[in-house]
Amino acid sequence: MPTEENKTPAVKKRFYRKRVRLFNLISKIKLWPSRKGSLHGIRTIDVTGNQARLMTHCNKEFVISNSLNSRAARWLRNKWFVKVCPDCRVPDWKLEKYSSTLFRRHQGSLLNPENEPVNQQIKQQAT
Ligand SMILES: [Zn+2]
Repeated sequence: MPTEENKTPAVKKRFYRKRVRLFNLISKIKLWPSRKGSLHGIRTIDVTGNQARLMTHCNKEFVISNSLNSRAARWLRNKWFVKVCPDCRVPDWKLEKYSSTLFRRHQGSLLNPENEPVNQQIKQQAT
């Protein structure tokens, strides 16, 4: 009979809101599906107002807008991509993390510091 120790640890699931700000999401997961369906690894994200300039690990540049309904936002949430960019060398753990990320309407983080619940540490100190 398998014991607890023999079980492979389940990948921790992460929940984000469906309406999470696109730029916050990209800064967090550091992945970007291009129009051609390549999933690129993001090296830097430069936000200026409602636009952001993405620099990928394969040195491609994308200028994107912060729209929740954009093609890329939908692809990112639905995890649609044709292939992982071979030049970006996205590590497996990052893809695994991405595939265990779920988007929910009423559950999960908005990745928005001012909207996050009160920090757990502060609560503990108060009691
Ligand atoms: Zn790439």
